[in-house]
Amino acid sequence: MVSEAEKVQKKTKCEHQAECMKLVQLIVDGQATDEQVAHFKANMETCLPCEKGYELEKCIKESLQLRLEKKCVPQSLVDCIKANIGKMALLALIISYFITEGNFLCRNFASSQTAITIGR
Ligand SMILES: [Zn+2]
Repeated sequence: MVSEAEKVQKKTKCEHQAECMKLVQLIVDGQATDEQVAHFKANMETCLPCEKGYELEKCIKESLQLRLEKKCVPQSLVDCIKANIGKMALLALIISYFITEGNFLCRNFASSQTAITIGR
């Protein structure tokens, strides 16, 4: 067994997650300053929810871009969420995301999955 002490212990709880997630939004939107990016990257090294939140935001952002380009490839997002969904904190994040912005995403999932089923 790998000794836990040899691994860098990441925080499993972020005490400033709301701020972190705002920063994540800026970064994935390409609107963060270099300083903000550097600050967040350093924080991400020690903070598990921030790291996962960043990965998820990136996946969501990419899938939104695909959607804007009218490509039907939300499967990458589905895979991303499946890969990350084990964490309860993340689940809460996803749920809050879906409540705020996600209604069309849900529909997009449903319709794309129907399309995949019909298409194959
Ligand atoms: Zn954090």
